[in-house]
Amino acid sequence: MDKLARLQDRIAVVTGGGSGIGAAICMRFAAEGARVAVLDLHPDAARNVAEQVGGLAVVCDVGDSRAVDRAFDEVEAALGPIDVLVNNAGITTEANVSRVRPRAEAQMAEVGATGKPPTTHLDAVVRMLDDEWEQMLRVNLSSVFFCTRRALQSMQPRGSGSIVNMASICGIEGCAGFFHYSAAKAGVLGFTRAVAKEVIGYGIRMNAVAPGFVDTPMMDTAGDLLAQAFAMQVPQARLGRPEEIAAVVAFLASDDASYMVGQTVSPNGGFTM
Ligand code: NAD
Repeated sequence: MDKLARLQDRIAVVTGGGSGIGAAICMRFAAEGARVAVLDLHPDAARNVAEQVGGLAVVCDVGDSRAVDRAFDEVEAALGPIDVLVNNAGITTEANVSRVRPRAEAQMAEVGATGKPPTTHLDAVVRMLDDEWEQMLRVNLSSVFFCTRRALQSMQPRGSGSIVNMASICGIEGCAGFFHYSAAKAGVLGFTRAVAKEVIGYGIRMNAVAPGFVDTPMMDTAGDLLAQAFAMQVPQARLGRPEEIAAVVAFLASDDASYMVGQTVSPNGGFTM
C-alpha cells in the first residue's frame, strides 16, 4: 500500500507530545507529512520526540492560559499558522493513584478468593483533596479550552482547521476510583460537541477520541496487577498500543474525516460498544 500523506505540509500542534499516545501521534503525523510542534511540560521529553520527527519542541504547561498563548505564538513564529491541534496532554494525579491502588488490588484478591462482592471500599471521593481535584480539571479540561481558544484565533480567519480532543472511556463509562479524571474527560466530550457545533460554521472540525486502556507510561502508574485486570475486561484481551490510537487521531485530523463533526471515536478493543 502507498504511504499515506494526508497531512502533507500541515502545521500540527500536539500537546503532551513527549510521551505515550502523544509521542505516537507526533510520529504518525510526521510520517503523513505534517510539520509537528511537540508541546510538553517536560523539556527533555519534548526535545527527544521533536528530534525523532524533525519537529519543534515547545515547553509549556497547558494548564496555564498565558503559557499556552506564548507557546502557540512561538509555534506560529517558527512554523506558520496552525492547521491541526491535538489536545492530548493529560494526567491521572499520582496521590490518588497511590491511595486507590492498594484498595483496588485488595478488592481483586477478595473477589478472587470469595467470588462475592468485595467488602473493601475504594473511598476515593472522601479522601480526595481540593488541590488534586482542581489540578485534574485544570490540566485535563481547562487546558483543552485554553489551547482551543488560541488555535481558533488562527483557524477562524483562515476558515479551516481540525481539532482532536483526547477523552477516555472513563468519560463515557465512569472509572471507579478515578472520578475526577472521569469528570474531566466527560467535560472534554461535552466541550467537543458544543464547540464543534459553533466552529463548523468556519469550516473547522472538532472531534474527540476516547481510548480504552492503552499501554503507556500513564498506564504504568496503575501497576502490573491492575493493568492485567484491565486487559482481562477487554474482549480483545490486551491493552491498546499508542500507535493504534494515533491512527484514529490521524484519520480525524485529515480530510478523510471531512464529514466527522463533534463525534467521539473510541478505540477500545471492544470494552464498550
Ligand atoms: P503519558 O503520561 O504517557 O503522556 C502524557 C504527556 O502529557 C506527558 O508527556 C506529560 O509530560 C504531558 N503533560 C502532562 N501534564 C502536562 C501539562 N500540564 N502541560 C503539558 N504537558 C503535560 O500519558 P498517555 O497515556 O500517553 O495519555 C495521553 C492522553 O491520553 C491523556 O489525555 C490521557 O488521559 C489519555 N488517555 C490515556 C489512556 C491510557 O490508557 N493510557 C486511556 C484513555 C485516555
